[in-house]
Amino acid sequence: MSAKGDLVYAWATNALIREKGESGGAVTALLKFALDEKMVDAVLGVKKGADIYDARPVLITDPDEVIETAGTILGGTLLLSKLFGKYLDGAKDLKIAAALKGCDVMGVYEQAKRRQVNLDNVLMIGLNCGGATTPAMMKRIMSEVFEVDPDSVRKETMYKGHLHIIYDGQQKDISIPKLEEAGYGRRSNCRRCRMKIPRQADLACGQWGVKEEMVGKATFVEVCSQRGAELIDRALEAGAVGIKVPDASCIKARKRREEAILDLADKWRKRDFEPLSSSKERLRMIIEETSRCIKCYTCVEVCPALFNTIKPYITAFPGKVPPELGFHLLRYSHVADSCIDCGQCEDLCPMDIPNALFMHAMEADLEELYGYHAGEDMSLPAVAITEEPDMTD
Ligand code: SF4
Ligand code: SF4
Ligand code: SF4
Repeated sequence: MSAKGDLVYAWATNALIREKGESGGAVTALLKFALDEKMVDAVLGVKKGADIYDARPVLITDPDEVIETAGTILGGTLLLSKLFGKYLDGAKDLKIAAALKGCDVMGVYEQAKRRQVNLDNVLMIGLNCGGATTPAMMKRIMSEVFEVDPDSVRKETMYKGHLHIIYDGQQKDISIPKLEEAGYGRRSNCRRCRMKIPRQADLACGQWGVKEEMVGKATFVEVCSQRGAELIDRALEAGAVGIKVPDASCIKARKRREEAILDLADKWRKRDFEPLSSSKERLRMIIEETSRCIKCYTCVEVCPALFNTIKPYITAFPGKVPPELGFHLLRYSHVADSCIDCGQCEDLCPMDIPNALFMHAMEADLEELYGYHAGEDMSLPAVAITEEPDMTD
């Protein structure tokens, strides 16, 4: 019997899933099993679209189609959290299993606090995540750094701090710090991200800690909830997955890997936040950058830490483009202590305004002040528990 806190190696017993899936296909096998056994009504996942740079969300109800979500797409910057509320009625009546990166899980938590998602109906299989790169940047890396035709690349993976590619039957790799020093690489929010192993999910899965001879053949799984333990036990009993207890040395190696990537995140935070350390300079940068805003409302619409409404922004700031600074300050005040640094407001801003940087810098300051960690537990943000003083006599 598995229990919260257990650590196992797992792999799919189905040969096709093992072949198509990342790290032995355990995640795909578990999602398929949950759907096969009607533990859930649907699987929300991401599949390859037109090419390896195109990540598309997909809702699957046929277990045989789950295999289409196998594998990793590093050039995809989707956030799945808001899809629950926008298209799936917040999982109110539908039980959904999903494979989610750290920012997806954090976003689901923030949405759940705002009653946009029913957490009881969401089975979360968390994925280790070293970071994602925009499709445009990934294509530049292929052509400018690796000097290969982006269309010839069949697979990209991050492993042991390196980006590896397979193209035309050949392989190349480069160290990620080296790539990033040269101005390429992961999105800036990903570089600052500390949610590399999402233990708020039911299971946290990935390759960190898989021993050398099992790399590509097994997934390291942390059991993070009773529901996750039940899924593993039932899948094992039905023969959908195989499992093995990892050696102590592999558990230590996983810890070292996590610590190394968290150290790197802290370095990037220091570097990115340094120019914002003076309040005057921060305000000057915010005024200057937001002066390009065309008030498209995208940053409001995509943010998982905001309610699904742009009405207050339309009502409070009608007509004018660019909007007054207050438009941005209103958004900042709504999200300042809840920003999960998912990067969506920056990725999708048509004017390349570094929204996520400003928001994340504020969240980091407030995290220090209040000790509130957005997206990590279900406690409410400080702004939600602050009582307005009664000003009437
Ligand atoms: Fe991964 Fe964190 Fe980037 Fe999300 S924000 S894609 S979890 S590194
Ligand atoms: Fe302005 Fe960019 Fe937000 Fe659009 S996404 S409202 S341009 S800051
Ligand atoms: Fe994500 Fe931007 Fe919202 Fe922060 S403010 S949670 S980075 S969309």
